[in-house]
Amino acid sequence: MQKIIVAGAGMGGMVAAEKLAKLGFDVTVYEKAASVDEMRYDWHDDVNPSIFRRLGLKMPEGSFKKKSWTFVSPHGAVVREFRQDENNADYSVERRPLNRMLYERAAAAGAKFVFGATVQRAVIGKGAVTGVVADGKEHEAALVVDSLGVDSPVRKDLPVEFGVSQYRENEIFVAYRAFYEKVADAPAPKYTNKVYLKHMGEPGISWVIQDNDPSLVNVLVGRVGSLSTYDLERALNDLRKTNPTIGEKVVRGGEMCVIPVRYPATRMIARGYAAVGDSAFMTIPMLGSGIASGMLAGNLLAETVGENMSRGVKPEDMFSKSKLWKYQVKCYREFGAVHCAVDVLKRGVLGFPDDMLDWMLGSEVLTNDEIGCLAAGKVLRVGFKEAIRKINVTEYSRMRTLIKVNNLLQKSLMAYRLARNIPRNYDSSICATWERQMKRYYKK
Ligand SMILES: Cc1cc2nc3c(=O)[nH]c(=O)nc-3n(C[C@H](O)[C@H](O)[C@H](O)COP(=O)(O)OP(=O)(O)OC[C@H]3O[C@@H](n4cnc5c(N)ncnc54)[C@H](O)[C@@H]3O)c2cc1C
Repeated sequence: MQKIIVAGAGMGGMVAAEKLAKLGFDVTVYEKAASVDEMRYDWHDDVNPSIFRRLGLKMPEGSFKKKSWTFVSPHGAVVREFRQDENNADYSVERRPLNRMLYERAAAAGAKFVFGATVQRAVIGKGAVTGVVADGKEHEAALVVDSLGVDSPVRKDLPVEFGVSQYRENEIFVAYRAFYEKVADAPAPKYTNKVYLKHMGEPGISWVIQDNDPSLVNVLVGRVGSLSTYDLERALNDLRKTNPTIGEKVVRGGEMCVIPVRYPATRMIARGYAAVGDSAFMTIPMLGSGIASGMLAGNLLAETVGENMSRGVKPEDMFSKSKLWKYQVKCYREFGAVHCAVDVLKRGVLGFPDDMLDWMLGSEVLTNDEIGCLAAGKVLRVGFKEAIRKINVTEYSRMRTLIKVNNLLQKSLMAYRLARNIPRNYDSSICATWERQMKRYYKK
């Protein structure tokens, strides 16, 4: 049977490893961590439970339901609470048990895992990816599934003519995440899930969460592009002023991480290559979702390969560009187009002046449902009646602001439509035109 390499045991990679092994492929996963229990990240993150239902997985041990979010405007003037819909609330999921569950399923399906192996680069031959170099040794494969995360050395190493997307400087989010010991005798917080939008007027967010573990405070400081030690210290000092429960000792985490903050790759495949998860920028950072979309992408990739097998595609064509393009189309149809729309909104909101955000959070212009929609990373559509209500509750002096918000919503819907228009079948010139349109749109 044909060999498949999964480079990096990211979550999408492990889902793909399980499903591809079940299809009968000879799958090997190369992961740099020494063991499954030492993989990043030692904490919990928010995921909508629907992905577990869809993939037939149980919720990992230690998961708990989220209740509310409180958004704080740039200089702390306005606070707005949003309660989650009880029936469709996100869960915070412990990453280590999740990794272990995905690993055990893939291993039981026959995928081999090589831990402590660092993937260094791709092996290229005749316009295709034909394997990887890990720890100085070349490993051949008919398909390389790139699950190495945002800074994948394999993706970065691909020849420019393959056209696989890379990111620009302002398309990453650099975040410090730490769980601090809680100061026991500090007064209990009024709001337990605070998200500071454009914290201190900087492009990015911070959060202080203390809704589950009675002894820990979950703190994040993240900025688009870069986060200097000076800015991090300033932000932490500021958070401590209004959150006296944040202690000094870091109990979990305490590391700097990078998350892509851009629309998904407009080219995530090449002959013999498919990127899943962060290596194809499948996140909506600041709103969660990278875990679910990475896992879904791993599933969609295996589903595409399975469909090609049942259509009788010859093994030598199984991982051609045109066959793998179907995987990219599925990703864009299932979640990529929504990510594109939300990416436009997120960038627009971060570019708003601070006082405009104060106004938006403080006035009745945004309904609670709309805030929920934005928090969950969904496309926001405003009907005629709601538009009239917004005009009615907006004082005359703020009309220009309302128009700006409306323009941003229209731009976001356009991004959604453009992304949904991804060509169904691979044709090099039609696909290149779509990619050019996408890139042009996001340059604005
Ligand atoms: C602070 C923070 C908060 C987040 N919050 C959320 C949230 O609430 N909800 C959500 O859905 N998402 C969240 N995310 C995003 C989420 O972590 C990612 O989208 C998710 O991990 C999917 O990424 P991945 O599996 O593709 O890559 P990664 O998680 O980066 O995994 C890549 C894997 O490849 C391995 N690897 C890397 N380089 C090499 C190499 N050279 N050789 C071999 N192995 C290698 C790594 O060890 C790792 O196991 C958050 C991320 C951060 C940093």
